[in-house]
Amino acid sequence: MAPTETLFTKIINREIPADIVYEDELCLAFRDINPQAPLHVLLIPKTPIAKLSEISDSDQSLLGHLLRTAPKIAEQQGHANAFRLVVNNGEDAGQTVFHLHLHILAGRNFTWPPG
Ligand code: AMP
Repeated sequence: MAPTETLFTKIINREIPADIVYEDELCLAFRDINPQAPLHVLLIPKTPIAKLSEISDSDQSLLGHLLRTAPKIAEQQGHANAFRLVVNNGEDAGQTVFHLHLHILAGRNFTWPPG
């Protein structure tokens, strides 16, 4: 099933504005419009994968790249030592935009378990 285009595709294509903090050939990162921490960045692949549970074996290196890039962005934003990564997978887990994204959160203390 072909993934449906979301507003994140529009951000990648510069059709709607975003506060972009990082970009390379595979991914893009921009500030969340409704931040839940002093640093709240969304890191997305440029390939529109709907959610983590829909990845295929051919996406493995892309996922590795995202995980490798997230700490670099946290460091670039002044939060090298403490940050949280969140991936909401599916509506019941809180996913609202169906284009895979890693939330990078930092700048406050986080509780566990998450809400
Ligand atoms: P999720 O609920 O995990 O699917 O996360 C989607 C995130 O996208 C939420 O944290 C929203 O605040 C964020 N969001 C929605 N629209 C925009 C936008 N135009 N620019 C930046 N972030 C957005």
